[in-house]
Formats: sequence, structure tokens, C-alpha cells
Amino acid sequence: MSDVRDVIIIGSGPAGLTAAVYTSRANLRPLVIEGEPSSSSDQPGGQLMLTTEVENYPGFVDGIMGPELMASFRAQAARFGSEYLTAKVSRVDFSDHPFRLWVGDHEHQARTVIVATGARALTLGLPNEQRLMGHGVSTCATCDGFFFRGEEIAVVGGGDSALEEAIFLTKFADKVSVIHRRKELRASKIMQDRAFKNEKIEFVWDSKVTDVLGDGAVSGLTVLNTSTGEESQLPVAGLFVAIGHVPNTDVFKGTLEMEDSGYLVTEPGTTRTNVDGVFACGDVQDHVYRQAVTAAGSGCMAAIDAERWLESHEDGPDHLVQTPRNW
Ligand code: NAP
Repeated sequence: MSDVRDVIIIGSGPAGLTAAVYTSRANLRPLVIEGEPSSSSDQPGGQLMLTTEVENYPGFVDGIMGPELMASFRAQAARFGSEYLTAKVSRVDFSDHPFRLWVGDHEHQARTVIVATGARALTLGLPNEQRLMGHGVSTCATCDGFFFRGEEIAVVGGGDSALEEAIFLTKFADKVSVIHRRKELRASKIMQDRAFKNEKIEFVWDSKVTDVLGDGAVSGLTVLNTSTGEESQLPVAGLFVAIGHVPNTDVFKGTLEMEDSGYLVTEPGTTRTNVDGVFACGDVQDHVYRQAVTAAGSGCMAAIDAERWLESHEDGPDHLVQTPRNW
């Protein structure tokens, strides 16, 4: 067992590392348990490690590569004394102070915990989809739509995300094919109406993408019509996969309050969870904005919330601590 830390941060995307910058500058010597490189869900650096160029993070006039941006976040937090453990939290016990967290058999203790484990976009599970991720395959239209000006592209999915992304992408692309596995959309009526009215959007019903084609960049898709059994090729320069996201919250089940969808519940306007002294920031508690800059902003909030919590509990650990939810 290690010493009791003031702050342990779980996760190392923009939210976790911003919390690390702030808490380390406040001399709280945070330990960042950053995830495992082999993991598809919580690899160190988070979702930006799976993207290429980031053009919408303020401050970078010419854009920056996602992995490079995260390396800078990490180095900046290290400069002020953040320490890193490249591992995954396997179990937590937040029922008493100090909080207890395990990485395998090794126990860590902390007076406050900042949860920044993020979310992951669901993908189709095709080998070439993974190979071309960030090279024409994307899970974020807001991030990557701009690169497809004047191109023909496709979106997979039939929910609100898919239609929202398709409509957004028509600002750039000449044509957007929405490929959906059924004949009926799951999306809300209003989104359906908007998408049907949009002349640049074409629907490909009862169909699933079975392969992504291209060497170094996407050149097309193989699409199977499940009602006729026919396979065809669709020449597109980009594929946006919009079949939903899942937050990385399995380890907190039964401990932290979460929505049915698994997103952590935080008190509006703060990063406080239902356990006093445990804070959550970034995509793990945000299914609306999901941007690097909003995650970073909430990471800053979590750091300030944790710092203030520590200041107000200077007299030592108190009894616990399940705050009744009153928001
Ligand atoms: P969602 O509602 O779960 O829709 C996922 C879509 O992807 C469904 O159409 C589903 O098909 C399809 N899908 C799932 N797995 C697939 C696979 N393996 N292959 C092909 N297609 C697959 O997810 P979402 O669209 O991300 O929305 C999540 C929540 O956020 C919803 O409550 C939504 O209303 C909300 N949201 C709201 C807005 C808005 O109001 N502006 C925008 C975005 C999201 P099936 O239909 O056949 O299951």
C-alpha cells in the first residue's frame, strides 16, 4: 500500500490531464492513473490518441496532431510534479475516507479522487475501420468534417447522432450517404424531418458496411443490403461512424451514481458526484458536448473543486460521506 495522496486522478485525456496541471500547480502532488496502452477503451491520452489533426483546440493556429497535443498536456502536468502510473484501476472503495483504489493487487489511497475516464465511441469492429481510423474514418463530425470539403462521404447509424452528424457534414461535403441497418430511423422526428429535407443527404436502407477500402486514406466502402443479400461498393472519401458512445464507468458501478446509460451524475454547475470528495469531469459525465476543450474546462473545475474540498477538510479525514442528492 502506498501513502495517502491528496488527489488521485483516474484517466489521462484532456479532462484528467488538465486536472493534473491545476492540482500539481496547487502543490497537491497528484497521481494520474493514466490507463493501459493496450486497452481500446481507456488508453493513455484518451480519444485524441485515435485522431490525426485537431484544428478546433484553441491556441493552435495551424492545428496540431491529437497525440502531440496529449503529449504536451502530459509534459505540462509532469513539469509541476504530476506523477503517472500506466495502469488501469481495477476496483475502488469509496465507502470511507481515505478512498481506496486498486491496480491489480496494489492498493492506493487518496483523500480526493477525480474521475476522468472518458467515453468511447462504439465502432463497427471491422479491421480496416481500425486501420483507417483518423485517415478517413472518424467518430467525430465536429472534429473532422472540415477535411471533407467537396467530397462524397458516408455516415453509419440511424439515431440522433448519425442524423446530426450527417446534417452538419453537408456544410462541407457534396453528398452524405446515411447507411442504416434497418428501414426505420431511431432518431427523433424533428431530426428525421430535417435530414429528409436536406438535398445533400441520401439514405441507404437495410444496409451494413462490411468493409472499408483504401490504402492510407478511405476510397470507398463495401455495403451489404441485408434484405436482398446484394453487396455493392460505395465510393466515398470518408466514413463517420455514429452508432453511439459508452462511458468508461464499469469500475464505478454500485459506487457512484450514474444514469441508465452509464454516464456519471454530477451536481449541475460543479463536478461533485454523490460521494463527497469524489469529482468527475470530461466525457465520463458529459454526453452532450464531448469536445476536448469542454473536457479540459471541466478538468479545471474538478481540480478547483478538489482543492477547495481539501482546504475545507484540513483537520483530517472525516466520517463518510454519501451526500444525499439534493440537486
Ligand atoms: P442511439 O440512439 O443508440 O442510436 C444508435 C444508432 O446506431 C441506431 O440507429 C442503431 O441502429 C445504430 N447501430 C448501433 N449499433 C450498430 C452497428 N453495430 N452497426 C450499425 N448500426 C448500429 O445513439 P446516438 O444516436 O448516439 O444517441 C444517443 C442518445 O443521445 C440518444 O438518446 C439521442 O436521442 C441523444 N442525442 C440527441 C441529440 C439531439 O437531440 N440533438 C443528438 C445526438 C444524440 P438501430 O436503430 O437498428 O438500433
